[in-house]
Amino acid sequence: MYLKSLELSGFKSFAKKTALDFTTPITSIVGPNGSGKSNVAESFRFVLGEQSIKSLRGKRGEDLIFNGSKTIGRQNRGSVKMVLDNAPINGKRLLNIDFDEVSIERVVHRDNANEYLINGSQVRLKDVVELLAQAHMGPTGHHIISQGEADRILNANLKERRLMIEDALGLKIYQYKRHESERKLERTRENISQVESLRRELAPHLRFLKKQVEKIEKAKELKRELITLYEAYLEREQFYLAHARDTFAQETYEPKEKLAALEKELAHARRALEKSEGQDEKSKQLLASEKEIREVRARRDTLVHDQGRLEGELSAEEKRLKKLREVAHTDEHKTVSLPEVRKLSDEIAQRVVEADRINDIGVIRNMLSEIRKVFQNFIKRFETTADSSALLEAEEEITRLLGQKKDIEIQVNACAEEEKSAQERYETLRAGIEKEKDESRDAEREIFKIMAAQNEVRGNLNLLKSREDSLKIEADEYERERREAAALVGPETLRRAEAADTSALQAEERTVQHERRRTLEKLKIRLEELGGSTGDDVVKEYQEATDRDAFLEREITDLETSAVSLDQLIKELTEKLDVEFKEGVHHINTQFEAFFKMMFGGGQASLSVVKPEKSRRSEEEILLSGEIPEEGTSEEEEVEEGIIISVNLPHKKVKSLEMLSGGERALTSIALLFAISQVNPPPFIVLDETDAALDEANSRKYGDMVQNLSQYSQLVLITHNRETMSRAGVLYGVTMGQDGVSKLLSIQFEEAVKVAK
Ligand code: ATP
Repeated sequence: MYLKSLELSGFKSFAKKTALDFTTPITSIVGPNGSGKSNVAESFRFVLGEQSIKSLRGKRGEDLIFNGSKTIGRQNRGSVKMVLDNAPINGKRLLNIDFDEVSIERVVHRDNANEYLINGSQVRLKDVVELLAQAHMGPTGHHIISQGEADRILNANLKERRLMIEDALGLKIYQYKRHESERKLERTRENISQVESLRRELAPHLRFLKKQVEKIEKAKELKRELITLYEAYLEREQFYLAHARDTFAQETYEPKEKLAALEKELAHARRALEKSEGQDEKSKQLLASEKEIREVRARRDTLVHDQGRLEGELSAEEKRLKKLREVAHTDEHKTVSLPEVRKLSDEIAQRVVEADRINDIGVIRNMLSEIRKVFQNFIKRFETTADSSALLEAEEEITRLLGQKKDIEIQVNACAEEEKSAQERYETLRAGIEKEKDESRDAEREIFKIMAAQNEVRGNLNLLKSREDSLKIEADEYERERREAAALVGPETLRRAEAADTSALQAEERTVQHERRRTLEKLKIRLEELGGSTGDDVVKEYQEATDRDAFLEREITDLETSAVSLDQLIKELTEKLDVEFKEGVHHINTQFEAFFKMMFGGGQASLSVVKPEKSRRSEEEILLSGEIPEEGTSEEEEVEEGIIISVNLPHKKVKSLEMLSGGERALTSIALLFAISQVNPPPFIVLDETDAALDEANSRKYGDMVQNLSQYSQLVLITHNRETMSRAGVLYGVTMGQDGVSKLLSIQFEEAVKVAK
């Protein structure tokens, strides 16, 4: 016997604490109508966890609490405590809890709040339900048949029957577990979809962050490349500039030296040229000399001319002399020269003019006499002396001419000498000038040469100057690049590059360095495009997002794994339920038939498990609904297996349950209930006036069955039936006085018969 006691306090009409002890296999509760017997049956359901207030004949939770009467005030809480014996029998406890005695208590408050307690400890309803399900007990189970509910199993539909039988077979625990698993599976699926949606929500951000991080990684890689390249570039540039400066210094040294030397040479040449500038004086001297020569030559020419003339005169005079000597021998060839004549004439004319001015005749006569004398002298001169004087004259003339000729010859010779020496001086001067001129020309030529050389050197130096300029530009550019490098890749790189040992560097084509520069520029642009941030925060955020994504992925995997195992569990439970259900039904059938035969004295009754035909929506219905059936989905609705009851009364052709009389229905129900209870006996059964419709003969049969059943389950029978009462070991009488409170008392059979009336 498992059921030890029941204690009601404030529950419905039991205002005061009322305890029922169940010490015998059959306990009957008797009492007049409305005394509160059914309230006791309901208190069983209540304490076992019934959630339907309606099935406890109330609307709200507070309807279950004593509501007060004229004399007694209402209660604020209603409670029922059931005590079960849980001592192990054959090493097995009724309830899976390590106590020999287990009290289960439920309290309802006016605010509809419920409390559940197991052995005084507050628990959840779920804990109570689970604990009891293992022992085939439940609030709505077959083992508590409320008043008027005896044929409930007959009135139930296929599915409800199935549930009731499952419950009776103790499959509730599997049902419960399956339901729990289904709920868990549903929750797991919801969680999966929630986590998937979280993952989906996270995905774009993660993708964005991934791209950012890839960019940052790329940027870091590019920066590393940039640093390496910068080092190589700066090192090379430094080497190049130093080398270029050296080369430039070497290249400019020689031209500069040469230019300095040329400068000296030029100064020297200039001085030489300046010297030749005293040439003017010599030129003047040369001119003077030339003039002197010319003058000497002119004089000589005059002299030569005079000499010629003289020679001519001489020759003429000699001819004349010769002629005169010839003429001297004849008068007729004596001639007076016209000039002599004119001379004479002029003398005469002069004397005549003088005479003309004189009035003195005497004078005039004298003058005439003189004129005559002149004439006479003239003639005389020509008559007598003419020849000899002429000769003489001629001879004298010749002498004179010869003298003159000699003088001239002397002069000519002197002139020749003079010319010669002038010529010599001239030549000397000219030669000197020429010599100086040559020297000056040489100096000039030298200057030109030097200047040309200077120009060439300067040209070279100019070329070198532009080289210096470009070197300067390159050096400035290098400075700018240094600063840029320090800003871009840090001063450390710069220091490393500048401290590098360049001695091992080989000369290379400048284009290689230019190529490096281009690559640097490209790298910088790519870096700029990637953005300058180091992105530590982005990397951190990405790491967090990745971790979260991985966590969510793990969650999904875990959830899917648990969904798979839940699915598997559900399948297993379904299978177990199915197998045990069918086996249970088979056993029930055996008992059912036996009870039925016992009740009706023959006939047949059985339960069958049927799967109702799947309801198929007609094509017309689908068309009218306007729905487009999804591909792959069946229009067939899954319908669970149910139970049908077949009866075959002896001597009657009654096969349908609907055709049974009230008593027949009650008997069939009782047969079935007892059959069910015997297959898997619950610890106790409460039957509230299940025997109400039985006649005397059937009441006896009922009493026999009850007695038989009590071997397997403890029975609490609420009854007005004397026969039934007679089978009970303990009888409780319930009464209700004017105060509206149910009272309980242990009574004897005879009293019970009275009380029950
Ligand atoms: P019968 O033999 O006619 O079936 P019974 O003995 O089973 O009657 P119950 O139905 O158990 O009687 O009890 C009904 C009584 O309980 C009624 O008198 C009702 O007023 C009382 N009752 C029900 N709920 C409460 C409540 N919350 N507070 C006080 N009394 C209540």
